[in-house]
Amino acid sequence: MTTLYDNHGRPITYVRLAVTDRCNLRCFYCMPEEGIRYLPKKQLLTFEEIERLISILASLGISKVRLTGGEPFVRNDLMKLINRISEIPGIQDLHLTTNGVLTAPYVPELKKLGIASVNLSLDTLDKSRFHAITRRDEFEPVMRTLNLLLEHKIPVKINAVVMDGKNIDDILPLIEFSRNNAVDIRFIEEMPFNGEGNHYPTLNWTYRKILQYIEQHYPTLTKIPDAAFSTSYNYKIPGYTGSVGVIAAFSRTFCGTCNRIRLTAQGTLKTCLYDDGVLDVRQLLRNGANDEQIKQQLLKAFTSRSKDGFEAERKRVNQSPASESMSTIGG
Ligand code: SAM
Ligand code: SF4
Repeated sequence: MTTLYDNHGRPITYVRLAVTDRCNLRCFYCMPEEGIRYLPKKQLLTFEEIERLISILASLGISKVRLTGGEPFVRNDLMKLINRISEIPGIQDLHLTTNGVLTAPYVPELKKLGIASVNLSLDTLDKSRFHAITRRDEFEPVMRTLNLLLEHKIPVKINAVVMDGKNIDDILPLIEFSRNNAVDIRFIEEMPFNGEGNHYPTLNWTYRKILQYIEQHYPTLTKIPDAAFSTSYNYKIPGYTGSVGVIAAFSRTFCGTCNRIRLTAQGTLKTCLYDDGVLDVRQLLRNGANDEQIKQQLLKAFTSRSKDGFEAERKRVNQSPASESMSTIGG
């Protein structure tokens, strides 16, 4: 398989696909509590369209797929889609990002079909703070999912958004969870994708500040090599089973090695998290374009990518600066 490169010499090997924009939580950093306008069902890519698109992407050299949303398990028959994608020739790694509310019953099947890893979003280990952050009382099912993932030895990363004044006290308990559990705890800078339109001029809890805070409490924190194309800076604490990572999602320090593209639930291609969509793939699919025509349009988009998230944000046509809900982007 030949590797596809963008106009900045970066290989493109990874697609993140949102299967829905709907969610059963209302994390305040992601969605407003009320007034969300979900996409009508007919605007979502169908399973057949998703399968066709991923096959086309696989033929271009994409080998890694992550399903995300919205909350992926809110989409009916998600496991059918996951099974179908796992059988597409060329797709070597299938990953999932979930909030864990509905996930537990599907863990054995995920294991059986060989899911490569699951990212679980969990910003606190405190039930009442979980409620305050997500505006829903769903802590127990999420913990059930986490425990089942560990029991089934599915590689798990916990993604925790670091929110000024909201969950700083949760950083250390989350790290302590990795003492005896094989889990990577990754702290993410809060981005402006909350669907509210309030944008920070400066971010207080930057990845540097998060890291300093962790180092103060764990002076033995040791840098470990980051995997190729990793978005996180990764560390070990001697004696701890798991690891700790920090993701500079707002500072955007990882753009130089970005190998990923995104497809929103309505089939809009994003070649950067911060762009506002560069190609309406659903329209191509529904207007009868053949595979070759779709490939050509995708290649055109891949070879005119912004250099980084700052350039992508500057070039936005709609909703500038970026403020749409992460649930519509496919985080
Ligand atoms: N619902 C699933 C979940 O929460 O895991 C998948 C979709 S969610 C949009 C994907 C990831 O985006 C989550 O890990 C979430 O924490 C992250 N996210 C959402 N809004 C964010 C924001 N404003 N800043 C940083 N990360 C955010
Ligand atoms: Fe839902 Fe995930 Fe957004 Fe939370 S972060 S509101 S779980 S889509």
